[in-house]
Amino acid sequence: MRILVVEDEHRIANTIKKGLEQEKYAADVAYDGEEGFDLAVTEDYDLIILDLLLPLMDGLTVCRKLRERKVHTPILILTAKGQIRDKVEGLDSGADDYLTKPFSFEELLARIRALVRRPKNFTQTILTVGDLTLDPKLYTVEQRGTKIILSNKEFSLLEYLMRNAGKILAKEQIISHVWNYDADILPNTVEVYIRNLRNKIDKPELRKKPLIHTVRGFGYKIGEK
Ligand code: CA
Repeated sequence: MRILVVEDEHRIANTIKKGLEQEKYAADVAYDGEEGFDLAVTEDYDLIILDLLLPLMDGLTVCRKLRERKVHTPILILTAKGQIRDKVEGLDSGADDYLTKPFSFEELLARIRALVRRPKNFTQTILTVGDLTLDPKLYTVEQRGTKIILSNKEFSLLEYLMRNAGKILAKEQIISHVWNYDADILPNTVEVYIRNLRNKIDKPELRKKPLIHTVRGFGYKIGEK
């Protein structure tokens, strides 16, 4: 899951970014509305956290312009306390939810979870592919009742594959969802992580048919076939 944080108060922006990374999300920060808009249009995010009072372009305009550009990424608006009218306008301009500042990080995480699972896996929190289950809330992966220990990035990679089970995902797509844009990641880094995952979940003694498939020239997919 990759999240864009658009917030001009550096302290708040960086606290959110750090917190999100601890929760195994990849997070980018934009400190003004224009930069936020540009990133939201050019990069592929799963969620945008958008402050309203921003330099260069205010949050409502960013939101409206993104929807005009057919960018349908879920948007969570941050408003200062008491700006009720902003909330209404925010939702009218195409935002999906809002949160009043100051907020607890727990509440922010709960809203994020609700928004990012809305389009896919809406009712289902636990992801299942074959004999493999992944719980995005508890950060656990189990295979036939046995816990599998993964690193943060391995977990994010597996979650991304499982949320898109059956679909072929290009390496570039995987990089943009699992790593931050400022992390210098080469396509063969993905190969290394895929290899590590295979060593943990596709052990030959466990199964005849592997779950992670390489689609030559395209990328990877997870599934029973
Ligand atoms: Ca602000």
